[in-house]
Amino acid sequence: MKSTFEAVGFCKYCKESRMVEAPEDATQEQLDQLATDECTCQGAYAEREREQQHEYAVYEIENIIKPRSEAAAVIFRDNIENIQMGKIKQITATVITPESGDKWTLLIKRGKDGLTISAKTTFEAKTEVF
Ligand SMILES: [Zn+2]
Repeated sequence: MKSTFEAVGFCKYCKESRMVEAPEDATQEQLDQLATDECTCQGAYAEREREQQHEYAVYEIENIIKPRSEAAAVIFRDNIENIQMGKIKQITATVITPESGDKWTLLIKRGKDGLTISAKTTFEAKTEVF
């Protein structure tokens, strides 16, 4: 087991310092991340919200996208952050499922309040992640 020590980290957003418990070989960047994880400022809070949204999005992509197309699921999953940050507005994939021959339109996009993940054929499976 690695031993830990108490060190000073700085929140990435508000720069407030705090004592954090870290592995002995932790870099300053890791200490700062630990401090950010514990900080209650708006920036740190928003980062945790984004991380949670990211987790939900991964889960929903597994549920809604992957059963229709593993390839699209990989692309969507790899770009959650780009969508969250607005670097990509939306990704659409059109696929045909081999078993049934159904044509699906798969979508991930950033809306006003969260991420929308949907799979549409003659009906639609849709979810929003906040
Ligand atoms: Zn902070």
